[in-house]
Amino acid sequence: MTPAEVTMVDSHCHLDGKEFATDRDEAVARAIGAGVETMVAIGTGDGPGALDTGIRMAERYPQFLATVGIHPHDAAKALPEHSKHLEELLRHPKVIAVGEIGLDYHYDFSPREVQQAVFVEQMSIAAEARKPIVIHTREAWDDTFALLERHWKPHGLPGVMHCFSGGPKEAALALDLGFFLSFGGIVTYPKAVEVHQAARDAPLDRILLETDAPYLAPVPKRGKRNEPSFLPFTAKRMAELREMPLEELARATTANFRRLCCPAPVAKL
Ligand SMILES: [Zn+2]
Ligand SMILES: [Zn+2]
Repeated sequence: MTPAEVTMVDSHCHLDGKEFATDRDEAVARAIGAGVETMVAIGTGDGPGALDTGIRMAERYPQFLATVGIHPHDAAKALPEHSKHLEELLRHPKVIAVGEIGLDYHYDFSPREVQQAVFVEQMSIAAEARKPIVIHTREAWDDTFALLERHWKPHGLPGVMHCFSGGPKEAALALDLGFFLSFGGIVTYPKAVEVHQAARDAPLDRILLETDAPYLAPVPKRGKRNEPSFLPFTAKRMAELREMPLEELARATTANFRRLCCPAPVAKL
């Protein structure tokens, strides 16, 4: 693969944290060199007190767009003033979505009822602003789908299942809600057979690519700090699973991303 010949979008990464304190500029340069022309800085930061984390990345680097949102891990720290702040930040021209929001019953860092309430509140803010949502869900499919069905579907707006980790059943439910499935490093893991199946079957116009850097690095970088320049490994695996040329997969996922987020052109070099 000659990366520069194929360009793609990393629809979900976290480069704002301490993991990139010493080489953030270099990581962005490596991503561009690898053909990752646009990256989305997820603006959950260290919690609701730092909602502008993604925006700061987007203001610093022309290749970045941003989201704003309160991660389910941080739901217990959410205060009414944070909702106001979220609404304001959503007006920033480089903010494309509310996220990552949702439910995480694996870690349960915040009580489940609080996670649900903060999730619902943020769906209502996103709907009001006519912005898509980016969903984080872990060991919480049933409640996630129930809340989306009730509080998101009526608005007719799109969303993203970030780092999709389900199988064909969850994929079908998400697609039925009008969501995009965003595939990350998990799709390169040999044992993730259910995810492979979902990656094979999903309609070409409903899939996205992401790294979720610094987490979940794809094979052959598994176990290392992930970064957007590793996105081509995930893209290549997706193309193999779907038995299609990498260029075509990259082109389709980029077009999907633009459809999701941007009436305006995506920031380019
Ligand atoms: Zn997540
Ligand atoms: Zn994330």
